[in-house]
This record gives sequence, structure tokens and C-alpha cells, in this order.
Amino acid sequence: MPYRIPFNRPGLTGNELRYIADAITQGHAAGDGAFTRRCHAMLEETLGAARVLLTTSCTHALEMAALLLDIQPGDEVILPSFTFVSTVNAFVLRGAKPVFIDIRPDTLNLDESRLEELITPRTKAIVPVHYAGVGCEMDEILDIAGRHAVTVVEDNAHGLFARYKGRYLGTFGAIATQSFHETKNVICGEGGAIVLNDAAMVERAEILREKGTNRSKFYRGQVDKYTWVDIGSSYLMSDILAAFLCAQLEKYEQISATRERIWECYNRELAGWAEAQGVRLPCVPPHCAQAYHMFYLVMPTLAARQGLIEHLKSREILSVFHYIPLHLSPMGVEFGGRPGQFPVTERVGDCILRLPFYNDLSNADQADVVDAVRQFECGGAAAR
Ligand SMILES: *Cc1c(COP(=O)(O)O)cnc(C)c1O
Repeated sequence: MPYRIPFNRPGLTGNELRYIADAITQGHAAGDGAFTRRCHAMLEETLGAARVLLTTSCTHALEMAALLLDIQPGDEVILPSFTFVSTVNAFVLRGAKPVFIDIRPDTLNLDESRLEELITPRTKAIVPVHYAGVGCEMDEILDIAGRHAVTVVEDNAHGLFARYKGRYLGTFGAIATQSFHETKNVICGEGGAIVLNDAAMVERAEILREKGTNRSKFYRGQVDKYTWVDIGSSYLMSDILAAFLCAQLEKYEQISATRERIWECYNRELAGWAEAQGVRLPCVPPHCAQAYHMFYLVMPTLAARQGLIEHLKSREILSVFHYIPLHLSPMGVEFGGRPGQFPVTERVGDCILRLPFYNDLSNADQADVVDAVRQFECGGAAAR
């Protein structure tokens, strides 16, 4: 059904189509061409990572992380139940047992106070997800991980260039993953990156990404022929998509300023209504510089959430809920998930709603969304 105001719309910043044409006419449309190198350089320079490698998706970057950690059947990986399926699937594909953790009611990030009790001798990794691009409590998480010699893999799909205590998200774990899916802040349609902060992992990461061959070394002239040296798959992004991404990364500051303006407008204009209706707006702790990835509301009840979605729909505005808690999904139940296990996750899963948020959301359209939301009364929905 066509909505007058959609939830998301992929936005262009200006040079995308020209760069894409260049990638095609330059004669190198496969992976690791000139645009890929430009993206790698920009990301490595900004983040200060040992190496950043573009991948076909964040999902594939997470799969690479599981391969790099040599996850074996029976290994345990701790992650929030309130996340996207790829966060868990990447590890389950290697035979890992997911160990879910509840989230904090304020930032909706994993509740680090629950972390240590979940660690066992089989724990191989902790996977914090920086929900909405607001940093998890990395000091506590790194302290616990360090004391138990467990690797941290940050799923930073929402949080490109956001910071925790002044430092970029994606630079705390040994590995981090990024997404450039069209629903994220910086896009190329489908794409991702693996951020390697541990230099010891770089060589193997290049091999895993190149079908288990040492082709990257061959291109750099470090070996005179390339061959099969390890397991691996094809995780390279086409240079055509890297061209799209390159144009977006070059305009990152513009994208970020736009998203900040949209986020601040919702936050300011809905504050009074939210307080009167018992609705909670996003929480960004003072030590976190967020990515302005999304604007969500935590409604008082499931009925109010569904009521507001319907109310906005009647004005041709699309709003959406978010993750179905993984521990309550059919796969999660097979891993022992049961209702009541993670009360915060379950309440937020029922009550969260995300408002339209995209780089070319016009002021007029956003004002319409704000007006429509303000007309809604939660009590009316609860009574129905
Ligand atoms: C979008 C997303 C992913 C997957 O990203 P893809 O690039 O689509 O594979 C993984 N984790 C989180 C938290 C996401 O939001």
C-alpha cells in the first residue's frame, strides 16, 4: 500500500550515479577496485582501525567474525534478544549456542549488570549491539570481557561514527561490523564492512573474504601466485556498490547534520505530548554522541502502540515496530527461550514504535507526522 509518508526512503547526496558510471566504465566492476580502496581508506582513517574491509552485508561481516573467532559447535555467544536475526544467525551457523541477555530500559542496549553471571568456560564472544546508534556501556563490557578472556564483537549496524566517551563505536571490540543497507544512515543498497581492530586478525580476514585464497597478497605483489590456503567465501562488495557508498561517505557530514535536525525536531516537538501520554522518548546518556539512526517511541501498552500505528496509517503515514524478541521466536524457543525470561525486552518488543526517518524527509512532512502523533491519545487506545 502506498503511503504518503513512508517509513524509509533511500536518499542520494549527489555523486552516486556519476561514481557508479565511473566504476562500470573504468573496467573494474568486481570487488576491491578503486572505489573500494577509497572507502577502505576513508573508514580506516576516520576510525583508526587496523583494517576495514567492505563486505556484501553486515550479515556477512558477522559471519566473517564468527569464522575469525573459530566458533565451534557448543561454544556460547552472549547477545541481546532485542536485535536483528543476523546478529545471532552468524554464530549459530557455526554451531554456537546463543545465550541471550536482557536490555536496559533506558538505552535499550544490553544490560551489562547481567553480563558476568552469563559467562561460562564455553563463552567465546560477547556481541553488544549499539541500538539506535547509542553506545552500549563499553567500559563495563570490556572490563568483564577482559577479565574472562572473551572476545567482543560490536554489531554497529546502527552506529557508524557515533561515539562513546569520545571514542568511535566500532573501535572497542576486536571486531566490529557495519551495515550500508538502504535502511541505515549511509547506504549503497546492500552492503557492509568488517572493522578489524586487532592487527593479528587482518591477514586471515583478507583470506576468508577472498574465497579462502591469498589473492589480496597476490594483488599487493607479496606472493607470485594465489592459491587456496584456508576456508572462506565470497564476501567482497562489487566496486559498483562501493562507488555508491563512496559518494555517501564523502558526504557523511551532510547526512549526519540532516539526521540530527530531524531527530532533534521530533524530540523537541513530541516532548510535551509524550510526557502527558506516558510515552517514553529515546534516552541518550551524556557520554554518548549518537548516530541519529532512528527516532522511536516506547508506548505505555501494546494496545497504544498498535493504536498509534493505525492512527498514523489512516493519515497515510507509515510507522513500524521493531524486533520480535529473538528468545520468543521459533528458533529462539528451540534454544530454550520462554516468555517472561527477559521482561524489558518483551515489554519494549510490544511497545516500541519507530517514526518515519530518512535523509530527505521534508520539514512539511515531518510537521504532518508530528501533528498526527500529537492528536493521538493513549488512553483511548487502551480503552478500546
Ligand atoms: C541491519 C542490521 C543488520 C544486518 O545488516 P545487513 O547489512 O542488512 O546484513 C545486523 N544487525 C543489526 C543490528 C541491524 O540493524
